[in-house]
Amino acid sequence: MVLRDKVSFRYGEEGLEAVYFFDREFIVSGNVNDGPYVHYQASGNLESFWVCEGKVHRKVVKSASPAVIEPLCGYKRKITIRDIVSEFPVSVKFIAHKVAAFSDVHGQYDLMVKLLQANRIIDDNLDWVFADGHVVITGDMFDRGSKVTEVLWLLYHLDAQAQAAGGYLHILLGNHETMVLYHDLRYVNKKYDVVAEKMGKTYTDMFDGNSVLGRWLRSKPVIVQVNDMLFMHGGLHPQYLTLNLRIEAVNEQYRQSLGIAKVLHKEQSVLSFLYGSIGPIWYRGYFNEPLLDEVALDYILAEMAVKRIVVGHTSMQGVFSHYQGRVISIDSSIKEGQSGELMFWDEGRLMRGTLSGERLPIFEMAENL
Ligand code: ZN
Repeated sequence: MVLRDKVSFRYGEEGLEAVYFFDREFIVSGNVNDGPYVHYQASGNLESFWVCEGKVHRKVVKSASPAVIEPLCGYKRKITIRDIVSEFPVSVKFIAHKVAAFSDVHGQYDLMVKLLQANRIIDDNLDWVFADGHVVITGDMFDRGSKVTEVLWLLYHLDAQAQAAGGYLHILLGNHETMVLYHDLRYVNKKYDVVAEKMGKTYTDMFDGNSVLGRWLRSKPVIVQVNDMLFMHGGLHPQYLTLNLRIEAVNEQYRQSLGIAKVLHKEQSVLSFLYGSIGPIWYRGYFNEPLLDEVALDYILAEMAVKRIVVGHTSMQGVFSHYQGRVISIDSSIKEGQSGELMFWDEGRLMRGTLSGERLPIFEMAENL
């Protein structure tokens, strides 16, 4: 489904060019640069697509280990495609000396790069320099912004580099990953509607199980524990405990149901909880009414045997503490493209990292939103 309202044409430098109207916004297709979208072919070769200056380019790279995709437009770096482990990681508990976390990038590639460079997670060449540290991204890379492809490929690259360095990049799925993967394209940047139309596919199909990024995303969990912290996109509601479902099983349930039509979720009680408004990818009850009371929060923390829960999803102007440090919110409104922060955990000490690379204390938000 393409949400195009109307297309018209105008005289461009190379003849007629299409102008797509979306409500009052319009996008000139000749200005659209995006890619690559890489798919595994049955032969084992890799088929890559770009839309550059509004024109579709296709290249096939012979299977090789590793296969390398040279940049054309869109993401500007060489990409080394690796075999994605088809097996889902069983472990959800990790130990790290130092941890950094952020969330809700929503296609703001340039700001993400600036934040990671300022805080010495990556260097000027966009390579991992956080050594054996763990970085957790609590979801929502997709939607809103216009550099989602660039965000995903850089994270794909850092994912491998982190592990090679003895560190770890935990990429968790948020509600916007699951929305894109099950054809809910309401928040997709208009640019990607043009790209999908040029490719003759839906945006969702560009991330199907045969695509490199789609397969990679499907290998990612929704909840992980690092040290004494539980990370997820929205939050855990006490009802989770009544399901009697271990975190490993929650991750597996999401993985198996990704891409299934939303209406089918309603037929299964576990899925309707997981994809519902109090499920781990949507819940906002640590900040918004009806607020979770402290007794219920303490019960969850005790049952899960963790000290705190770290979540994104609910946007604030920075990284904040809530419930006296038992909840940390890390959606620092990167999606607005103006500012953002990271959370740092260093041998038990919590700090926040700013865009200028300063490390400052995390404040308790006196009144929840
Ligand atoms: Zn969200």
